[in-house]
Amino acid sequence: MPAAGAGVRLGPGAPKALRLLGGEPLLVHAVRRAAAAPSVRMIVVAAPPADVDAVHALLAPVAPVTVVAGGAERQDSVAAALAVVPDDVGIVLVHDAARCLAPAELFEQVAATVRDGAGAVIPALPVTDTIKEVDPGERVLGTVDRSVLRAVQTPQGFSAPLLRAAHAAAADSHTDDAGMVEKLGHRVVCVPGSDFALKITRPIDLAVATHLLTLPPPA
Ligand code: C5P
Repeated sequence: MPAAGAGVRLGPGAPKALRLLGGEPLLVHAVRRAAAAPSVRMIVVAAPPADVDAVHALLAPVAPVTVVAGGAERQDSVAAALAVVPDDVGIVLVHDAARCLAPAELFEQVAATVRDGAGAVIPALPVTDTIKEVDPGERVLGTVDRSVLRAVQTPQGFSAPLLRAAHAAAADSHTDDAGMVEKLGHRVVCVPGSDFALKITRPIDLAVATHLLTLPPPA
């Protein structure tokens, strides 16, 4: 679970995963939901390097976790967490702490699809906005057919050897782990995403998530 980002787009404050939602840090919400998924048997959190001990103390009452120091980019944080996952773990889910309300059922769906034989699985939602391609001067170059586009979330699930190979081979920077697997030429499959798995990036996302907390958990 990469949780080492600063959260610059949220405005000044604590590292993003430690900001509060409904009185609890985003990371606590995220770990609680991950731990509630029956398939999850080990959780590794990549925390801001200065906060490793504090994050361990914070999460100890929530679930058993291993906490490592994250890196400069998300990809580095995932690699640091992956490095302490034992070799006998066959399936790894990578989940952004910032998607702190992703339900346990989504973890299960992703894990089950990997267990059924897919090497790489991502939750995805249809795109609802009309998408334009623009040039550096913001001049519209064209309208993209949104029916073939998907907005991608986490948890993303992988056979552990495939994820390790993808990280070992990654030469450039990627915003998700499935992107590295695609680069290796391996198939990535989608399962339905969840509105509850929105990523907390801007203040408006925190406001939406605060409202989601008042709703019954998704079916
Ligand atoms: O910045 P963004 O919201 O895309 O980050 C996605 C996830 O990656 C967040 O949970 C964030 O804490 C994590 N991250 C990280 N290490 C970094 C940057 C981001 O673990 N250096």
